[in-house]
Order: sequence, then structure tokens, then C-alpha cells
Amino acid sequence: MPRTPLIAGNWKMHGLTDALGFFDALAASGAVSRGCELLVCPPATLVAAAVHAARSHDIRIGGQDCHAESSGAHTGDISAAMLRDAGADYVIVGHSERRADHGETDDIVRAKAEAARGAGLTPIICVGETLADRESGQEEDVVGRQLAGSIPSGFGPAHYVIAYEPVWAIGTGRTASADDIAAMHAFIRSQVPDGEGVRILYGGSVKPENAREILALDDVDGALVGGASLKAESFAAIAVSA
Ligand code: PEP
Repeated sequence: MPRTPLIAGNWKMHGLTDALGFFDALAASGAVSRGCELLVCPPATLVAAAVHAARSHDIRIGGQDCHAESSGAHTGDISAAMLRDAGADYVIVGHSERRADHGETDDIVRAKAEAARGAGLTPIICVGETLADRESGQEEDVVGRQLAGSIPSGFGPAHYVIAYEPVWAIGTGRTASADDIAAMHAFIRSQVPDGEGVRILYGGSVKPENAREILALDDVDGALVGGASLKAESFAAIAVSA
């Protein structure tokens, strides 16, 4: 199965309605429909409006998180079905900021991934080691455990995407070296069932200046982009590199 590159933007807790001009600007940049899939995950308040703003462009919209249950007494949470209903196609689950700020365990991430698939969304399951893990040579153990715990059994390559995001490279301006990224992506592919078909994104301070080198690596099937996805110009430049 061919692995179509995916360039995904994670706006995190950024963006008011005046950010929606992003989609026309991205389309005007010529970066759309060039053989790679483009996805933007705005804050939940903008998902429906972003779907509307992106409707005539070939740009997908996703959520940044979902609850594991489809409905219930969970004040402030959003279910996968709600994201789907708003027009989303994807949802990020297990981002390191959720794992750290909200105590999300692999079990919780796995349940969210299952809920996402059940609602018709594709989950982007995030994994990645801390700096301490890497400095003590435990990065493969940590990522291997996260993969084993976070990917639901029965999931095949078409059901999910993995994002490898070393925690120490997110929002810090530091990127992993090309060798480290290539080695970890090959390791991840070897660990997941039918790994040849699974799309594995790299995330961690991807920007126009480093995108070409990272996206050219074996086993890198795209990028999950935080800061550089907030401006159509830089997101477009990354997409063009892919
Ligand atoms: C992210 O939010 O997933 C991310 C990789 O952020 P940044 O690109 O800003 O490091």
C-alpha cells in the first residue's frame, strides 16, 4: 500500500476566527494538491469553521484530542463523534502535552484511538521519549512501550497514523539529528503490525529550513508541525518540501 505523505499542522491553543484566512492563503500558495495530504488541527472552537473555510480546498481538518467515550458527563470534553459531526477527518491523540499536562497514560490514549476509529476519524497516535530517556539510552524502550500500549489491537495501517515526537524537540527549536530520526522511524516500523503500510510522521521543531532534509529520510512519511503551522507561508513551504 503506498504511503501518501501527510503534513499535519497542530495549532495547539492558538487561533481566533481571524485565523481562518489561513486556508485561502495556503491554497493560494500553490502547496495544495501536490501529492501530499494536508491537514490542519485547529483548537476545537474553530473546527467547524475551519471545515467551512477549507471546504473548497483540498485540506483536511482534525481535532487535537477527543474523549474516549462518545457522550456523557465530562464537562469541557469533546467526543470523537462530535469532531466527526463538525466535519473533522483526523484527531491527534496522546500528544506529549496531553500526556504531561493531563496525565494521559497509554491505556487512555489507546481508548481514545479506538473511539476515534469508531467515530470514523483517523487517529494520529503520538509517541516520543524525554531528554532524560534519550540521554540514558532508553529511547527505544520508552517508544516501544508507548507503541505497544497506545495502538489498539486489530488496527491495521489504514486505521491510524503514528507521530514520533521527541518531547525535547517540541517547541524548543531543537530537532533530532537526521540519523536519530531515521533510526527511530525504522525502529517504529519494525514494531507495529504490517509496519510497511503505516504512515509515520516526525514532529519536533519542523520548519521550512529543515523540512526538506527530514522529509527525505527513509521511513519519514510526513510531519506533525506546531509553531510553523500557524502561518500559511511557513506551513506551505514545509508542504512543498514534501
Ligand atoms: C507539536 O506540537 O506537535 C510540535 C511538533 O510542535 P513544534 O513544531 O512547535 O515543535
